[in-house]
Order: sequence, then C-alpha cells, then structure tokens
Amino acid sequence: MNAGPQEPTLVVAVDGPSGSGKSSTARGVARALRLRYLDTGAMYRAMTWWMLRHDVDVSDPAAVAARADEPVIEMTTADPDAPAVSVDGVDVSGPIRTREVTNAVSAVSAVPEVRTRLVALQRELIGDGGIVVEGRDIGTVVAPDAQVKVFLTASQQARAQRRAAELTADPAATVSTTRSEMDTRDRLDSTRATSPLLKADDAVEVDSTEFGLDEVIAQIVKLAEERVAAL
Ligand code: C5P
Repeated sequence: MNAGPQEPTLVVAVDGPSGSGKSSTARGVARALRLRYLDTGAMYRAMTWWMLRHDVDVSDPAAVAARADEPVIEMTTADPDAPAVSVDGVDVSGPIRTREVTNAVSAVSAVPEVRTRLVALQRELIGDGGIVVEGRDIGTVVAPDAQVKVFLTASQQARAQRRAAELTADPAATVSTTRSEMDTRDRLDSTRATSPLLKADDAVEVDSTEFGLDEVIAQIVKLAEERVAAL
C-alpha cells in the first residue's frame, strides 16, 4: 500500500542530531510515499545567512531578536529532489551550507524570537499535511500531532564521517575538526532553553549506524504504512 495518495494529511516528523542521516532519509521517505518535503534546518540556516550578511552580531541574542522579523524566507516543498530556499528573493540553497553559516547557526536558532517566527512559518508550510518534515523539534513542538515520529541517531564517529564526506570541497573539514564542530553544535542544540533537541515520548528511535540508507528508509516507510493502515 502506498500511504501518499491515500493519506494526504500524513505528517512524518524526522528529528535527530547533525550527521544522523536525517536529510537523505527524510527525502527518501518523501519520495517513496510521494509526499512533500520540508527541511527546517535550512530555514534556520537561511536566517543565519541573512544575519551574517547584514553584519548582525550573532553572539548577541538581543541583536538577533531585534531583526528576526526582517528576512523574507521562502521554501519550496513540492519536490523532495529539488528543495530550494530563498531569502529576500535570492536563492541561498548553496550559501547556507558553508562552514561560516554552520558554525553560527546554533547561536541564532537558540533565540526565542527566531524560533517563534520560523515555527509559525513551518506550520504554515505543513498546512494540512502530506509532508515529511525534518529538524530538531518537529515531533515535540512544530507538529506534536504528527502520525509518524522518528528520532534518528547514529554513533558519533559515523556522524562525523558522514559530515566530513559531505564537505569534501572544504580542505579544513577533516573528520576530527568536523567532529569537534559537530559536537559543539549538538551540545548547543541540546542544551538551549527553547525547544532543545529532544526525542518526543511517542517517537520511534532508529539508530542508523549499522544500516544502509535504503534500509533506514524502508523501516520508516513501513512504519508510516502501518500507521496509515491503523487510522
Ligand atoms: O539540520 P541542520 O544541521 O541543517 O540544522 C542546522 C541548525 O539549525 C541546527 O544545528 C540547529 O541549531 C537548527 N535547527 C533547529 N531546529 C530545527 C532544525 C534545525 O534549531 N527544527
């Protein structure tokens, strides 16, 4: 059974730390179930890119809060193979992946005014559903009623290796520097006061360390189909 067309209101929440394979997994699930796809991390990155572009001191929460309403962030959710993010009309899908943005994003995303604004936008984009949403607080805060909630994990070493492999264009991105930058980001994301990275009580934990991407996608698709059948 294909859950997509039969269950247009389905929301699949995929949360987890960086490098757990969230993006590839969430996109694969969306493709398999013919659902839309939303990468909420890209929205926090877009907000961060804009702050850096406008010389806002990202280590000053009050300075970030004061301008959090300004950037116009637009997301394309229709095609999991071509997600796009733009800020003030400029496509920033590439620039939001730089180390500069990556190392600043946790400070920006910890600012409550940023979260309030982006969570509202995320709920608008989710609308009536039919979507896979990946992030850190989707199952807990953004879409607590999602029918399927997955918390994706992997060993620290596996996560650092995957991240470093993604960043091959950057000579500074060795496994050890990537691991320490990733550890810092995860610590900030897990300890912030507003919606920290947290497994929802009703989320299914999937450890991707020992599984290939296709196996993890298949596990989640099966879970979604079971949930839809039980509705
Ligand atoms: O998923 P990705 O690594 O691109 O996310 C970038 C950052 O955005 C995270 O490190 C986190 O600080 C923030 N984020 C968040 N809540 C989400 C998604 C991402 O705070 N739902």
